[in-house]
Amino acid sequence: MQIARPDTAVDEIHADVSSFLDSRITMVIGDQKVASESGATLDVFNPATGKKITEVPKGTAQDVDKAVTAARAALNGEWSQLLPADRQRVMLKLADLIEANGEELAQLETLNNGKSVMMSRLIEVGASADYVRYMAGWATKIEGSTIDVSIPVPPGAKYQAYTRKEPVGVVGAITPWNFPLNMAIWKIAPALACGCTVVIKPAEETPLTTVRLVELCLEAGLPAGVVNVITGTGEEAGAALTAHPGVNKLAFTGSTEVGKIIGVQAMRDMKRVTLELGGKAPMVMFDDMDMDQLGVAAGIGVFFNSGQTCCAGTRIYAQKGIYDKVCDFLGGMVGSLPLGSGLDPANQINPMVSAKHQSHVNACIARGAEQGAQPLLKSGPYEGEGFFVKPEIFTDVDQNMSIMQDEVFGPVVTITPFDDPDDAIRMANDTRFGLGASIWTTNLNTMHKYVPKIEAGTVWVNAHNLPDQNMPFGGYKQSGVGREHGRAALDNYLETKSVCIALG
Ligand code: NAD
Repeated sequence: MQIARPDTAVDEIHADVSSFLDSRITMVIGDQKVASESGATLDVFNPATGKKITEVPKGTAQDVDKAVTAARAALNGEWSQLLPADRQRVMLKLADLIEANGEELAQLETLNNGKSVMMSRLIEVGASADYVRYMAGWATKIEGSTIDVSIPVPPGAKYQAYTRKEPVGVVGAITPWNFPLNMAIWKIAPALACGCTVVIKPAEETPLTTVRLVELCLEAGLPAGVVNVITGTGEEAGAALTAHPGVNKLAFTGSTEVGKIIGVQAMRDMKRVTLELGGKAPMVMFDDMDMDQLGVAAGIGVFFNSGQTCCAGTRIYAQKGIYDKVCDFLGGMVGSLPLGSGLDPANQINPMVSAKHQSHVNACIARGAEQGAQPLLKSGPYEGEGFFVKPEIFTDVDQNMSIMQDEVFGPVVTITPFDDPDDAIRMANDTRFGLGASIWTTNLNTMHKYVPKIEAGTVWVNAHNLPDQNMPFGGYKQSGVGREHGRAALDNYLETKSVCIALG
């Protein structure tokens, strides 16, 4: 089915979505759709209603072992014989299939994650298809270099050296629930471009679009075992994948806490590892900012995906000349954002992904008030069906309060005044995270002076929360290790082999 216009409400769930949900959803290992060895399953919920919509296999260490074995066999099989142009072609087919099944995938994502179907269509489907095409382009552009060397032994000998870039091997990919399809693509697409094979474990809350994606990988013509999916919990399937000796590289996106566990485990076996972790992004607003941009700053910067975004600008620092206006504007705007199911794009605040996460966000809000921060909206808890949280804005916040230091990952923002810009930058950097940040100013000097002082992997200017496949993305400090996107991302999936030839 052709994908609907992004802003169209879903009045009736697409028949393919209903039949997928009614089917016995499986994992994919090789070209087989399989249940878990144990037969156990995990319930999957619709966050907008709080009701169970289906179940998926609860993968075990045994299942992971089978998937890694399939990925290893594929790495050494037909896949390794394909020309780069063949890999590119099959990736382009996959991108076409993502779009061709776009409405199904978008509705499935919204039913499973709760997010606005507009975002499912634009980001989970549209940006994912673009991402696969972008990485498909790199498949034919992987290159080493020739190197002049000065090896002095034995005297008079001459050598020529060059480097080869080779696939790192079997990739274990572990993804979070906030952008399920998109995060899966951020791992799978560069891995395929580089000739690797993949075992992916999606978050237990949101496995559905990843399962469909891996089915589409087979339909696109990827050989069996090139991409495998194991559904299940982090503690069981995720830990088994992390520890599996047959995995060469771990590609993880998720919380800093779990990232540390995975990083330690990776180093035990010297697995290659990239970690895309949590954030607590500051937005520094100077007196001279264009106040017409406040709507964009709040809508995209803070409340996009209902605040469940790793780069969400949850700490606003506003210079004293505009502080009151920023508070008034956000108070008015945020208080009136429509809250409801993501199936209607008019609803701008959608549910939290799970009951557990709803409790976490509510607890963060309660703690903020207990510690003395002032809730501007006094929203109070949401009462009704589904995992919703009413947005809240905090003022009078100290740097050491948990609402300022810990990732809430919900529709909550703090606003803090500053006088001296250097103080603002000091407060902006006063966090263990360093993923994203933004500066809002119309003064070029201010921009050039303060961008270098911000400790974050991405700094936007008069914008926020906008990644691109060609722009390196990753964290300073405890927001991660390594960069995704762009040419640099390929290095995560390649080994460099030096070849040194003695000349006769
Ligand atoms: P999470 O860390 O709880 O889970 C992420 C994944 O890790 C899930 O698939 C989970 O099953 C798995 N997992 C959990 N414990 C594991 C273990 N012991 N071993 C192996 N795998 C394990 O994160 P989440 O709650 O799903 O996602 C939200 C977090 O992700 C936030 O902190 C957010 O900032 C971060 N995030 C970061 C980026 C980025 O690019 N930096 C992007 C999106 C989300």
